[in-house]
Amino acid sequence: MITTVREFGMNVPIAAVETVFLDRDGVINEKLPEGQFVRSWADFHMLPGVPEAIARLNRAGIRVIVVSNQSGIARGLYRADDVLEMHRKLQASLAQYEARIDGFYFCPHGNHQCNCRKPLPGLYEQAAAEFPSIAPATSVMIGDSLPDIEFGKRLGMRTIFIEGNPERQKPGAEAAAMLANRRFASLDQAAGFLLTD
Ligand SMILES: [Mg+2]
Ligand SMILES: [Zn+2]
Repeated sequence: MITTVREFGMNVPIAAVETVFLDRDGVINEKLPEGQFVRSWADFHMLPGVPEAIARLNRAGIRVIVVSNQSGIARGLYRADDVLEMHRKLQASLAQYEARIDGFYFCPHGNHQCNCRKPLPGLYEQAAAEFPSIAPATSVMIGDSLPDIEFGKRLGMRTIFIEGNPERQKPGAEAAAMLANRRFASLDQAAGFLLTD
């Protein structure tokens, strides 16, 4: 496996990056205005440069895992099957760029119902059960919200905040940006940081 070693800042251990955990909405696809949910493929609008960025991570031998809170399921707005279908279409769309996501994990629950709603660690545990070589020290969490960055921090991963559309940032985005080791405008730029030396 080809790995990459990047300087994340003072007091951040330098270790090769082997796994990148990606939040979905706001990182891979456009976040909808607050309170609206991505319910189906029709709502799924890939952000610029994302398939190419994922393909670059793939070619570098870095595992790409999606971890997504989907409380719209608990709210009855769509079903888990709709999410699975969306992820199949996303994978097919990425394949046109020779890009792939190695694993999808999502939390279908609302608040305080489970151990898998980020920032809780359940989605990480599910991924690590399937890919035993995953370890926090060699992982990076990339997300656009405070629960994403807290998820990564609590597990001991390095973290990257994606700024995205300022009009669609959630409350807590500024705190997340401060807490993260790094911040970039897009996944494309974050991948550039991880892969360029
Ligand atoms: Mg998000
Ligand atoms: Zn859950």
